[in-house]
Amino acid sequence: MAGNDDKAHKQRSVLIHAGRPASGLPVPVNPPLVRASTYLHATAEEMRATEQRRLGGAREDYYGRRGTGTSFQLEDLLTELEGGHGARLASSGLAANTLVFLAFLRPGDHLLISDGVYAPVKRFVKSYLSDQQIAFDYVRADGSDIEGRIRSNTKLIYLENPGSVLFELVDIPAIAAIAKPKGIVVAVDSTWASGVTHHPIRLGADISVLSATKYLCGASDVILGAAVANESAWKRLNETADWLGTCASPDDCYQVLRGARSAAIRIEEHRRQAMRLIEWFAGKPFVRKIYYPELEDHPRHEIWKRDFTGSCGLFTVELRGVDAASVDRFVNSLSLFGLGSSWGGFESLVRVENERTIRSIDGENYGPLVRFHAGFEDIRDLIADLDAAAVMLGKY
Ligand SMILES: *Cc1c(COP(=O)(O)O)cnc(C)c1O
Repeated sequence: MAGNDDKAHKQRSVLIHAGRPASGLPVPVNPPLVRASTYLHATAEEMRATEQRRLGGAREDYYGRRGTGTSFQLEDLLTELEGGHGARLASSGLAANTLVFLAFLRPGDHLLISDGVYAPVKRFVKSYLSDQQIAFDYVRADGSDIEGRIRSNTKLIYLENPGSVLFELVDIPAIAAIAKPKGIVVAVDSTWASGVTHHPIRLGADISVLSATKYLCGASDVILGAAVANESAWKRLNETADWLGTCASPDDCYQVLRGARSAAIRIEEHRRQAMRLIEWFAGKPFVRKIYYPELEDHPRHEIWKRDFTGSCGLFTVELRGVDAASVDRFVNSLSLFGLGSSWGGFESLVRVENERTIRSIDGENYGPLVRFHAGFEDIRDLIADLDAAAVMLGKY
């Protein structure tokens, strides 16, 4: 656990109590699921007044595309967790990511984007944004070269903390201090922390983007995303989401609200499991390196200690001295680690990454990269599974 225990304790209480009605007792612990497209209004005058407030950007029970009571509660929970001004929910994490680009970039603008972002975000930037005459440059996944790459037309710095797969950490307060005087919006994909162990807006970013599909849901059966904004970025984010018709199903919001209540203790248990698995990998002859911000040899471990209150179940192992076919045989022969994308559910997962495309600008030659998500199975069973499969990686 990082040296931020007080903050972590406060977060746990927020997770349980935020976004729940405090008055009107008795009320059910979990507020009822509200499904609606159409809301009925009492009079034409009232309906018009509600519509006017709605068009001005207010959150109203007017028409279900903007949300219902269920999604509003999840917005409130995420806003409070992240220390933002407002949140917009989207049908997927990726839809929340792209909402941010669509909100803050126009033709002629320039984007600085981390080389460590989630791969589908890179595909969006490369294809869609280029078509819109929006220029972009990658910056290192740790953000260390941002200052020299800012142009007069740079409007958005888009980061992921930590970076996907290799978990590089960025110094958000330092980057915000550079961006703010120039009026550049700073957005951070904070899915790894899921609103629980790290809060980019509290550290100076304008926007925090989350895939709620991962730990906030926690059960691998919902796709949902959110973008949370501070006060200065809120209007633009909110109106863009209205223009685009960005929305999320109340059923999915209900599931994620329920999952979020236990997210802190689940994440901590995922972390404990991951630490045990990492111990197993450490020192094995076929392991070149283990990527996990909590490890003291992480190049920016100090930032993790300063800016995070915990880690989670996700880590990547870089192998050495093994060919691609052996790596495939190794993961194929695991029986408790499912082969699958995504993470954050109760089950252990494994995925072979493409080490040749994982970073575009860092100039490193990576060995085979295998990403694990430590689930809640008995740790002895998980280790026995690894022990049995490791014969595929040679004798040790
Ligand atoms: C999974 C993920 C996303 C996309 O989320 P979906 O809900 O699957 O669309 C975005 N960013 C990061 C860092 C992710 O891990």
